[in-house]
Amino acid sequence: MKYIFVTGGVVSSLGKGLAAASIGTLLERCGLKVTLQKFDPYLNVDPGTMSPFQHGEVYVLNDGAETDLDLGHYERFVHCSLSRLNNLTSGQVFESVLRKERRGDYLGKTVQYIPHVTDEIKNRLYEVTEKSDVDIIITEIGGTVGDMEGHIFLEALRQFALEVGRDNVCFIHVTLLPYIKAAGEMKTKPTQQSVAKLREIGIQPDVIICRTEYDMSEDERRKIAMFCNVEAKNVIAFRDVKNTIYECPLDLSQDKIDRIVTRRLGLDVPAPNLADWQRYVGRVISPSHSIRIAVVGKYIALQDAYKSIYESFTHAGAENDARVEILRIDAEEIEEKGAEAMIGSVDGILVPGGFGDRGIEGKIQTVEYARTKGIPFLGICLGMQVAVIEYARHICGMDDANSTEFDQKTTHPVISLQEEQKGIKAMGATMRLGAYKALIQPGTLAHKLYGKDSVTERHRHRYEFNPAYRDELENAGLVISAVNDEHGLVEVVELPDHPFFIACQYHPEFQSAPNRAHPLFSGLVSAALEHKSHS
Ligand code: GLN
Repeated sequence: MKYIFVTGGVVSSLGKGLAAASIGTLLERCGLKVTLQKFDPYLNVDPGTMSPFQHGEVYVLNDGAETDLDLGHYERFVHCSLSRLNNLTSGQVFESVLRKERRGDYLGKTVQYIPHVTDEIKNRLYEVTEKSDVDIIITEIGGTVGDMEGHIFLEALRQFALEVGRDNVCFIHVTLLPYIKAAGEMKTKPTQQSVAKLREIGIQPDVIICRTEYDMSEDERRKIAMFCNVEAKNVIAFRDVKNTIYECPLDLSQDKIDRIVTRRLGLDVPAPNLADWQRYVGRVISPSHSIRIAVVGKYIALQDAYKSIYESFTHAGAENDARVEILRIDAEEIEEKGAEAMIGSVDGILVPGGFGDRGIEGKIQTVEYARTKGIPFLGICLGMQVAVIEYARHICGMDDANSTEFDQKTTHPVISLQEEQKGIKAMGATMRLGAYKALIQPGTLAHKLYGKDSVTERHRHRYEFNPAYRDELENAGLVISAVNDEHGLVEVVELPDHPFFIACQYHPEFQSAPNRAHPLFSGLVSAALEHKSHS
């Protein structure tokens, strides 16, 4: 097994995750089998309990692990299937060490950062090595070199490299070259200092990736190489991409990072074949059509909160030869100004997932607007739940219909907790999580879009369509087009007398990728194009 460790220096938000994923893309296209993982030094056991405003989207894996959004990049950029082993946090490390201590596993020893905590981190690396059928494991270390909380992870990596042989390991350090406008210069000092910090721990990076706004000159390259003790060709420029993040692998390949890394690891492989990736990027950059889709949610202010949804639109746009312009609308603004004013001119509407009652009435108004005006609509998770509430209120006359998440006393709890959720008080990892199979009703829009009788999709929710209301809503015209294969829980609802109105309890956005656009997103984009051509 070969290992690549990606660390970050100078500042956070450098696109370390994208750099790691892009290196994965390139290596996969050299014919290597690659998997990726992330080590996050924070103390939460997983990001599932963090607010999206804090942490951005929680990305859900097939096995139900709630993980960092970078794992979404990994699955979109590389054909890897990740599990809960692929996201290790300090919270997990300490939880495990303390459990062992209480059990007496340490046989009377003093439990210490070194070796007990570092062993715990290395054990995860060995476990992933054992369980992954790949040639290379790329591990991204969250945070910035110099952070106190990341120190122990770096120490573990230093030890690990010694154990598996330094020639099997490539350390890549991603830094920033800030541009000082007044001086008209790019500054290399922060990079030098952050590499010095790494070397203090005993890690000499093999490759330095410099995030830059402008092209890096040969002089700058040589200077970084000299001060950081790496060869000049191993200093890679990582420019801000102009159009789409999917350009990142192409950009990094210009400086031949794949050659440098594979040579460093002693792998003799052909140059990457990027033809289909290039074609894909071409389709993203210059499509023939364009549409406007409103995403009406709660965590709109933060770019990262609905990351996978925005990415899914890029994939679906490319598949439909269309640029998807996203209008990010705060549901509370719909409550204040009305749907017509806020989303009157869009070609399609998406209501994403969410928690808590803020903005719920605005989302219900949004659904009503989409339903009555014939605007293509996709609801996801909470988006499906509000679609059901809207239908119950306005078509079935259940005026106070609601989810018991928002109104415990409603006389019509059309969305409610299942028995098995009722006793649960703890917040971490207690939702219905991960992949479940749904059976799709032939003759429905869902069946037409998927083109098959069953699908496996990822979930992250507590509340469900209340089965007690199924008959009444179906009799009033709501079509239930997919149900869970074991308990019959409602997975997808749709409206037959509407150009495109579909909503699902699961999260299709977690399984969309370049050249593998998700059928529900692709369907919405295609319906929005159709809608635009008529208006
Ligand atoms: N809050 C809702 C639930 O828990 C929806 C969750 C979501 O949209 N992810 O069921």
